[in-house]
Amino acid sequence: MNTVFIALGSNLHNPIYHLEKGIRQINHLPETNIVKRSSLYKSKPLGPKNQPNYINAVIKIKTKYEPIELLDALQKIENMHHRKRIKKWGPRTLDLDILLFNEIEINHDRLVIPHPEMINRDFVLIPLFELTNYNFNIPKYGKLIRYIWVFMSKKYKFIVVEGPIGVGKTTLANKIAKTEGLINWNDSAQKINGKINGLYPVPGAFFIYKGERYKILKGEIGNGNGNPGEIISD
Ligand code: ADP
Ligand code: MG
Repeated sequence: MNTVFIALGSNLHNPIYHLEKGIRQINHLPETNIVKRSSLYKSKPLGPKNQPNYINAVIKIKTKYEPIELLDALQKIENMHHRKRIKKWGPRTLDLDILLFNEIEINHDRLVIPHPEMINRDFVLIPLFELTNYNFNIPKYGKLIRYIWVFMSKKYKFIVVEGPIGVGKTTLANKIAKTEGLINWNDSAQKINGKINGLYPVPGAFFIYKGERYKILKGEIGNGNGNPGEIISD
């Protein structure tokens, strides 16, 4: 079986409906199963601004499909949502992008994997992180956490690691600080009821550390100014 990560996005006609239905349709493909799905994230549109906010998610699947076959199947599903390709980055009912396919790299006219834009999109990086872990490697590009870090540090002052006492927040914060050569890492656990570690001077997502893995509980993932994006379901 192949392990594949797919990004879903929608910003038209009840986006949550299209996302949820798209996920079910993928699950119904022959010899294909959803292994995990991220929370739903709300984000501001890329490109033309005069369009509704997006809802995004990432899923992890196991499938017998080969890459191009899978692309065909996903495009069929997009078409079932009456997706019209009118303009680049314009509004859409359902967008399905293959992010990663096993560990392979593909450069085909119709299919580039890893998806070349994934490292620039917080609404992809953050849900992907939710499904993976600190050490997750993106073929060709390197560590996922690094891209999240770079992206977020441009936009936010803090990253917050949230979770109950004793669960490994400080360890995680130290790990990130070390990897990224951060000097000013500031443990503010005491300040906030022992629940939260602040990392300074960086980014603003909220990670919760659940047992073996940590996941983002709430992320400010909007583009640019104005209202940040937010997780709307978990
Ligand atoms: P976008 O997702 O960039 O907004 P579209 O969904 O309209 O744009 O896709 C345009 C084309 O991108 C598709 O026809 C498809 O062949 C190609 N493509 C290249 N790489 C991928 C990928 N990894 N996943 C999905 N489509 C891809
Ligand atoms: Mg697409």
